[in-house]
Amino acid sequence: AILEKQSTGGSRILVFVRLRPMAKREKEGGSRSCVRIVNRREVYLTEFATENDYLRLKRLRGRHFTFDASFPDLTTQQEVYSTTTAELVEAVLQGRNGSVFCYGATGAGKTYTMLGTVENPGVMVLAIKDLFNKIRQRSCDGNHEVHLSYLEVYNETVRDLLSPGRPLVLREDKQGIVAHGLTQYRAYSTDEVMDLLLQGNQNRTTEPTRVNETSSRSHAILQVVVEYRVKDASNNVVNRVGKLSLIDLAGSERALATDQRTLRSLEGANINRSLLALSSCINALVEGKKHVPYRNSKLTQLLKDSLGGACNTVMIANISPSNLSFGETQNTLHWADRAK
Ligand code: ADP
Ligand code: MG
Repeated sequence: AILEKQSTGGSRILVFVRLRPMAKREKEGGSRSCVRIVNRREVYLTEFATENDYLRLKRLRGRHFTFDASFPDLTTQQEVYSTTTAELVEAVLQGRNGSVFCYGATGAGKTYTMLGTVENPGVMVLAIKDLFNKIRQRSCDGNHEVHLSYLEVYNETVRDLLSPGRPLVLREDKQGIVAHGLTQYRAYSTDEVMDLLLQGNQNRTTEPTRVNETSSRSHAILQVVVEYRVKDASNNVVNRVGKLSLIDLAGSERALATDQRTLRSLEGANINRSLLALSSCINALVEGKKHVPYRNSKLTQLLKDSLGGACNTVMIANISPSNLSFGETQNTLHWADRAK
């Protein structure tokens, strides 16, 4: 589907929505569901959780959206992976870069979707598992090398989540922008990966007042780099590299309120510069603009070679069903709608 869409010119971003289940705590607190997913594509937003006439809602602006796919609350991790990311893993094995983002308010299910749990591993782990399976099917000569990097962007500072320490400096070299000194972990199998990522996630920045919770302003980026050799048309052995970036974005709640303001006016307000810069880049790509403002933030610099152009880009917008999150859900859906 991705290849089809990209051949129509410009960068086409595939946009998905995932609704998380209502939490026990929310149910007990009297939350009602305000989201309905119909036909695995359409999302209806209604404060009245009764069996409504959805056609009537269709006419209400900002209450009805259609995406490439929308996942109801009981969708499995495997189904989310297969629909959103499996094609990108295949493309990486053909030397093409891609990126998958989870976007949404804090508590909407981004980390669950990307990292998941030991019992229910998310997109990051399932992608690596699938990658190793595909490599095994393709060759048994150890031709493919897989390296993992896991890093964080927090307040425009880049940190290595696999080897925490001083902030990393971004440098531009022949290959593009690289984080100097970043750990490139050589992975040989899936087994070690969940532990590695859980540990990395522990290293994400926490807010001083809530030491056990990852800061809602922290972006986590897993980069999976596959390097292999193939013979070209004249039988020369050439090196090929494909890179998949999987990104658990910072909470969108603060950025959304200020979406319309310029980056400069946000400097003092401690707004998430990287999240806004990503929005600007995505808008520029979707509108087919020549200039894409990658330079505006650390996140977009790091993803420059994985976003736009011939790269596959996938956005998963995570939403909560609770009527108490109605505003955030509506903002997230609007944002996702504009990324299409
Ligand atoms: P975020 O990273 O967007 O802040 P989390 O991924 O931490 O949100 O999700 C918030 C809570 O909801 C967590 O306890 C998580 O386990 C749970 N959760 C999120 N999505 C799902 C899902 N699809 N199925 C079951 N539980 C989920
Ligand atoms: Mg999270």
